[in-house]
Amino acid sequence: MKSYEHLFIDGQWAAPVKRGTFETVDPSNETVIARVAAATSEDIDRAVKAARKAFDEGPWPRMSGAERAAILRRIGKGIRDRLQELAEIEVRDNGKPLPEALWDLGDAAGCFEFYAGLAERLDRDAEKPVALSDDRFSSVARKEPVGVAGAIIPWNFPLLMAAWKVAPALAAGCTMVLKPSELTPLTALELAHIAAAADLPPGVLNIVTGLGHEAGAPLSEHPAIDKLAFTGSVPTGSRIMQAAARDIKNVSLELGGKSPFIVFADSDIDAAVEWIMFGIFWNQGEVCSATSRVLVQREIYARLVERLAEQTRKIKIGNGLEDGVLLGPLVSKGQYEKVLAAVERGKQEGARLVTGGSRPAHLDTGYFMEPVVFADVPELSSIWQEEIFGPVVCIRAFADEAEAVRSANDSRFGLAAAVMSRDDERCERVARALRAGIVWVNCSQPTFTEAPWGGYKQSGIGRELGEWGLNNYLETKQITRYSSDKPWGWYIR
Ligand code: NAD
Repeated sequence: MKSYEHLFIDGQWAAPVKRGTFETVDPSNETVIARVAAATSEDIDRAVKAARKAFDEGPWPRMSGAERAAILRRIGKGIRDRLQELAEIEVRDNGKPLPEALWDLGDAAGCFEFYAGLAERLDRDAEKPVALSDDRFSSVARKEPVGVAGAIIPWNFPLLMAAWKVAPALAAGCTMVLKPSELTPLTALELAHIAAAADLPPGVLNIVTGLGHEAGAPLSEHPAIDKLAFTGSVPTGSRIMQAAARDIKNVSLELGGKSPFIVFADSDIDAAVEWIMFGIFWNQGEVCSATSRVLVQREIYARLVERLAEQTRKIKIGNGLEDGVLLGPLVSKGQYEKVLAAVERGKQEGARLVTGGSRPAHLDTGYFMEPVVFADVPELSSIWQEEIFGPVVCIRAFADEAEAVRSANDSRFGLAAAVMSRDDERCERVARALRAGIVWVNCSQPTFTEAPWGGYKQSGIGRELGEWGLNNYLETKQITRYSSDKPWGWYIR
């Protein structure tokens, strides 16, 4: 068993001050795969001080964008060089099927390469002239790194979520302390090895594993942090925002969702079923943007539900390392029990369980469940309103466009939404009417590093990815010059 009992602080591997560890478990067989360093507030303080020093005195924010880009590209290559090995670690830590892990890690490498390009662009366009109404003055607006960033991430796409924060922060010239989820900490620690091998200067990226209340909370409360970037649940996001409010830290939040997928009657049923399945069963449904509420126009409702159930029963469930598996175990015992409880609640709330919800007969250990299709789900039920974060799709029928849009928007969340129809104008109208940060037309879930990502309403604040993701880590400074030959002449005339 490889050792993960050290934290990566100031370019060095250090045991936690209190020398504690926690266990991470393979959800496919419920066995411990590693003991992992458990950081507490003393370690967080050391990590933040290292990041502070690297920002205030180190070379990183003072380098050109092109110099930072070269290192980001080396990190991207470092991930690509170890893609298969890292993907297998991700499968054992998280449970996801290997092809999905390979996809994630390719995206993670791509994210570093993409932000390398934006770092280079900063050399050209970090400073822009501002036209003023008074020609005695001239002004420029200049983008500068926001400072020391604290990043806290969830377990569903472990290394990819790390990349979404580390790559833009480093491209901007920030330094960072990253805390991965205690359920899936392994690939983040591997990223530390990759960053060190890429010659990232000490203190620029510090990676501290630990529990939410022991490591995450002190990180979010640390006074030397300038910016907090969080992805995770709404309750934790709210706590992070409260911590940030105390000393007015810049904060961005990517939180949960209960995203709708509207299918109009002119859609091809097989195409709809394929995208509905991709929208909710990919990554075991443990996806913040999962289209977990499906609204189907009444004319095709019965046929679609039947076809969806038929295809859902065919999904191969098992250990993510096994060939052909499309649904792995849920990430942890806690998550497994939460999702099973939601299924029970759904039945009590009057939804019709069309298929799934039991442990597959051939799998007696591991956090496995058959994917669930619920039809006729009452609009006021908790399973229609609340995020389940598992392979559970909830379906309702609708009569017309107005009803579909009203029902889709009737949520405290607004992360993503999808619409399917052969009528382009209708898709355009509905896409504009949906109150969500991401809208997919005739598909669900494809995610591109170049495009903005984030939510309306309680799904978050700010945007990741693309140039928007870089802006998360930039401050804007105006430099205004008095350029007139004439004295100002207010006091001294
Ligand atoms: P979580 O909120 O329980 O944990 C997220 C992270 O916060 C973990 O690293 C955890 O250790 C840490 N944490 C927990 N308590 C903390 C505290 N008091 N202070 C500081 N940090 C603390 O969420 P999760 O269960 O890991 O992830 C699932 C949630 O994340 C879902 O709601 C999902 O929708 C959301 N999510 C959103 C996106 C997005 O882009 N919008 C992406 C992935 C996941």
